[in-house]
Amino acid sequence: MSEWCALPIPYPDELLYSVIARYHIRSNNTSPKWTLREVFGTDNVIPTIDLPSHLDALSRRNVVQIMADEWIMKHTFYSYYAPFLPDSRATRVKALMRSMDGSGVHALVGITASTIDRTDRLWFCPSCYEQDIQRYGEPYWHRVHQLPGVYLCPHHRRVLHKLTSPVSDRHSLNVLPISRHMFRSIAVIEDLPDKLIDRLSDIAEDIHLLVQQDNLPALYDLRQAILPRLAEKGYVTVSSRIRQQKLCEQLVLFYSRELLDLIDSDPTESRYSWLEQSTRTARRAIHPLRQLLLIRFLYGSFREFLDRTNGANAPFGNAPWPCLNKAADHYKKLVVTHCDITRCSDTGRPVGTFACSCGFSYSRCGPDKSEADKYYRGRIKTFGPIWSDKLKQCMQDGMSYRSAAERLGVDTNTVIKYANGKLPERNGPLKPKKSNKARTTSPSISSSDVPFMRVNWEKRDLELSWGVEQTCKAILADINSKPVRITIALIGKRIGKLSWLEKNQHKLPVTMSILTVYIESVSQFQMRRVRWAAERLSGEWPIKRWKLEKLAGLRPDYSQEVSGEIDRCIGQSRLLQPFTSSEEKSSWQH
Ligand SMILES: [Zn+2]
Ligand SMILES: [Zn+2]
Repeated sequence: MSEWCALPIPYPDELLYSVIARYHIRSNNTSPKWTLREVFGTDNVIPTIDLPSHLDALSRRNVVQIMADEWIMKHTFYSYYAPFLPDSRATRVKALMRSMDGSGVHALVGITASTIDRTDRLWFCPSCYEQDIQRYGEPYWHRVHQLPGVYLCPHHRRVLHKLTSPVSDRHSLNVLPISRHMFRSIAVIEDLPDKLIDRLSDIAEDIHLLVQQDNLPALYDLRQAILPRLAEKGYVTVSSRIRQQKLCEQLVLFYSRELLDLIDSDPTESRYSWLEQSTRTARRAIHPLRQLLLIRFLYGSFREFLDRTNGANAPFGNAPWPCLNKAADHYKKLVVTHCDITRCSDTGRPVGTFACSCGFSYSRCGPDKSEADKYYRGRIKTFGPIWSDKLKQCMQDGMSYRSAAERLGVDTNTVIKYANGKLPERNGPLKPKKSNKARTTSPSISSSDVPFMRVNWEKRDLELSWGVEQTCKAILADINSKPVRITIALIGKRIGKLSWLEKNQHKLPVTMSILTVYIESVSQFQMRRVRWAAERLSGEWPIKRWKLEKLAGLRPDYSQEVSGEIDRCIGQSRLLQPFTSSEEKSSWQH
């Protein structure tokens, strides 16, 4: 088996499944299994239409450089579900899709095997079909046409079609035949009044707009965003309660019962309806289609909603923003007018980078939840001349690292790093006059000046601190092995400097201050084990307490704190089964 394969370049909004199917045809493989082996490196994989897995492997093997994240965002259902999931869960969905084991992914977004036959649906728009052949020479499966709730093409407002022959089986890779003579198809819905057709077309448009967003809006806690609108429309009482009955009646009137039935979203069907849940503080994820129904009902369209609710489009509010360069005179003044927004590849959350004309720039993870967040600085990206000059000044004045750090608004490590690296005149051979000065301010820096044989502890401390931090981070990042407790002994052994850490702590202030951040008490370590075990059990709902305790290796006498962490992890898992309660039969239209 070859180490790589050359997938066709995906067309706009093409399903990953469709790309693989086109590859299958091109490769002339007689069995889909061969194709899967070439694409994923294993045939032990089902190329699901909605939320496929093994995407790291696929992206690694593909000669065309497309990152797994791009496949996920643009060619799967991820961007349909993720905006309505809690951050942590969306991150896990993504991780599962990248991994070699995507078995829990459907349960994680709330689709269970029993409620959906995922191979059932491959629909297409007859107009797109013609258009694609003209444009690209071949038709393909569009993602938007497969999304739950889409019955019409959002581009052509035409009812979608499904194939009636040839009928495909579950494990085959189906392409849309290139000639109309090669297949027969029928409309997926028929005989609906124009009014309903229009409504369905609007819904398709909303869904299309949702999955086209480059920055996925965070809509898990939709209530927060729509509350002002609910109040405006008279659905909130003076005592801040939602007029559930009125809301429900009006929504049913707006869409009609017939349509809500068709898309299985009649809010009057159960006593604790999806509508009621949508307007409460988020406890469980609500299906995207239903959230979009509510949004359209309240705002007229999803577009209008996005335009009106700042949070979705401007996660950091509007310009200007403060410069957070403590060395500058304009510290905390609102002088920054530009903010670059990217997406964190791990969490999917927006990251804003704010650059000031003084050369200082910083970033922070969003969205901002309050005005005070504006003054929160995440990572410093660049320091700029004003900051560096001030640092130089501090060093020349003989200020200690710690006070310089305080003055410059950074931690001591940063000062040490830049005092060393960024002030070249302090490193090289120095003129005698200057050298005296340098020695009094910072003896560690010019090692050539240090008397022979004297151990330079400050330098040693600095070097050691990087190693220690890296080792600690590596231990925490290793989620595959059973957790080990971070202690001085463990770190000392790992970096081969145990005796220094044991005997010379007072000479290693930076290293020790970093170590104290990472060293774990028994409880802290137990809590980390609990989180680790919960992660392992994330495919199971609900997570059983005894199972979690066993996997985490807890003895029964654990502390209140640890117990709280278990509750939190189990509680979290309760959030993970949004559509499987008895109240809701969770029979989504797919
Ligand atoms: Zn179309
Ligand atoms: Zn500035």
